[in-house]
Amino acid sequence: MTHIDPFALRALLGPHARPCRRALTGESGVHLPPFIDHHVHRHLIAPSGFAAAGIAGIVDLGGDPVTLAHLAGDGIPRVAYAGAFITAPGGYPSGRAWAPPGTVREVSSASSHPGVAGGAATAIDEQVTFGASIIKITLHAGAAPFDLDTARAIVGLAHERGRPVVAHVEGDGMLRRALDAGVDVLAHTPFSGPAHGDEIRDAVDAGQAWISTLDIHRDEPDTVSAASANLAAFAAAGGRVLYGTDLGNGELPVGINTCELAALHAAGVRGEALIASLCDPWPFTEAPAGVATFIAGDAPADLDDVPAWLGRACVVPEEELVHDE
Ligand SMILES: [Zn+2]
Repeated sequence: MTHIDPFALRALLGPHARPCRRALTGESGVHLPPFIDHHVHRHLIAPSGFAAAGIAGIVDLGGDPVTLAHLAGDGIPRVAYAGAFITAPGGYPSGRAWAPPGTVREVSSASSHPGVAGGAATAIDEQVTFGASIIKITLHAGAAPFDLDTARAIVGLAHERGRPVVAHVEGDGMLRRALDAGVDVLAHTPFSGPAHGDEIRDAVDAGQAWISTLDIHRDEPDTVSAASANLAAFAAAGGRVLYGTDLGNGELPVGINTCELAALHAAGVRGEALIASLCDPWPFTEAPAGVATFIAGDAPADLDDVPAWLGRACVVPEEELVHDE
């Protein structure tokens, strides 16, 4: 039977990593908190197999709110969603093949009055009514982005309703606009070019979180290196990093994505920090209840082994795990 040294394990992976046995099978391994993919699109994937492949929670960042409200968990312990992409008229991603009309709401005025056609409050209230925990907006420099005043108004209205705002940010000036508008979370690590030092600093100071999504750029080396450098600078400055894959965008595996983990590791988000990016309960404050991550067999010997080792994770009921320490 494998023996795992609890002190070495904690030194490598942080205080939540514990040696354990699985009561049903007697297998020994490592117990970690449940993992969350903070950026998926359920309407673009076959939503089964998450738990067997290590993911206990998903955050849908753009879909039809009516469909999302009616979908069951499909064996996923926790599902959170934003509902539709909220965008300016003609803005990203309206008109894209992967974004059917039900997944996009065009907002033409910052109106805070309920029921105004094209008003910001109308669009936000619709998402909230259908159970959205988050509001998603888009700021794409090449596709009619919101001006600063409108973006700021939308963020304010979402906050009044207790909902954080996540933004798709793309192109020149859009990171600055997201910061000035008070956006809480970026759906992607900025990838359009190098972020400025003051933008990194302001993002960290504001408590903004960045969802990683590095692996979606794997076929574009310049984009990968820009995003990776931005994430490295943000993480090194103390920024809050959330593991996310943009699952549904291209060919990505359902469940934990070891290429995304390797890209995070390469950007300096390693060991305990990597585990923290997977286990961050955002947009909630508590981890999904009653479930845990179990990784059978030996613990990783050093930091460089961690991303591939995490690829063996599965989700189990927490009560199945027994601790001998
Ligand atoms: Zn996405």
